[in-house]
Amino acid sequence: MSRPVYLSHPASLEHDTGAHPERAARIVAIEQELARHDWFGMERIEAPRVAAETLTAVHPARYVRGIEELCAAGGGAIDADTIVVEASYEAALRAAGGAVRLVDLLLSGEASTGLSALRPPGHHAEPSRAMGFCLFDNVAVAAQHALDAHGLERVLVLDWDVHHGNGTNAAFHATPAVLFVSLHEWPLYPGTGPASDVGSGAGAGYTVNVPVAAGSGDALYASLLEHVVAPLALSYRPQLILISAGFDAHRDDPLACVELTTGGFAALTGTVRRLAAELEVPVGAVLEGGYNLTALAASTAAMLRVLTAPDPPTATDVLLVPQAQAAAARLAEHWPALAAV
Ligand SMILES: [Zn+2]
Repeated sequence: MSRPVYLSHPASLEHDTGAHPERAARIVAIEQELARHDWFGMERIEAPRVAAETLTAVHPARYVRGIEELCAAGGGAIDADTIVVEASYEAALRAAGGAVRLVDLLLSGEASTGLSALRPPGHHAEPSRAMGFCLFDNVAVAAQHALDAHGLERVLVLDWDVHHGNGTNAAFHATPAVLFVSLHEWPLYPGTGPASDVGSGAGAGYTVNVPVAAGSGDALYASLLEHVVAPLALSYRPQLILISAGFDAHRDDPLACVELTTGGFAALTGTVRRLAAELEVPVGAVLEGGYNLTALAASTAAMLRVLTAPDPPTATDVLLVPQAQAAAARLAEHWPALAAV
C-alpha cells in the first residue's frame, strides 16, 4: 500500500555547528510538531547513506573526497557560514541519501508523497563548492538519480526557500531534463538568480528564476504559483515534482524579509498538489532552510497536512498580481503558454 513517508536519521543531530542558525534544534522542532499530529500518517524511514556513484553524478569525486577528508581531520570552516565537524560527513551522506530514497519510494509507487527532513541542507552546494550551510545538493542528487536510475526525462524542482538555490541552478543549468524554478528574495544571499538567468545551451529556458522584493507575501507567492509555476509545469509535463522546501520565507524568519505566513505555505503546497494530481505524477519535498523554530515547525506541518491529505484542496480564484503577470510575460519567450496569462 502506498503511504506517505518521512525520511530522517539521527546523524542529522550530530552535525553540530555550534551557535549557528542552521542547527540540530531545527529537526527537533519539526519532529515535536509532527508528533503532535501523529506524523500525518507518515511512515518513518531511516535515511540510508547515498551511494557513491549517485553522489558523484552531481558532485565530482575529488570534491566529495575533500569534504570527507576535512571532516575526518576534525572539520573546520569552509567559509564564514559553512562549518563542518567530524560527524558532518556522515550527516551529509544521509541527507543526500534520504532525498534519493524518497525518490525511489515515490517512483516505485511505495510512497504516495513524503518529506526528506535531514540536515545539512543542500541547495546552495554547487557541484564543486560547499557554501551557505550546504555540503551536497540533496535535491539535485535526488533529481539526477530520478533521471539516471529511473529513466525519467523531465523532473521539476520547485525551490521556494527564500534564498536562491544556486547549487541546483548550477547543476542543471545546461539541461532540459530538470526544470528548475526558484522563487527567492532579491537582493539577498547568495546574490545569484536574476530573472535573466534562464539556463544555457540545451537548458536555455529550463532555469526559471523569479526574484521577489523584500516584503512580498502570501498574495504574490500564491499568484506566482497559480499563474506562472502551474502553467509552466503543465507545459513542461514533469514526471516527478520535487519541492526544495525551505521555510525561511516565513515572516518570522530572522534571515530574510519575505513575509509568508504558515497558511501561505499551505496554499503553495495546495497548488503543487493540484498540479501533481492533474499531471498524475508524484510530489515529494526535501528540507532546505528555515531558522525560526516555531515558524519552521508550523510551516513544515502545514505543508505536510496538505501533501498527505487524501485529496488536493479545491482550487480557489487567485488574483493575478502585476508582478506575476510581468514574470509570465518575461517567460513567454521560452514558454508560449505563458503568453496567455
Ligand atoms: Zn534559505
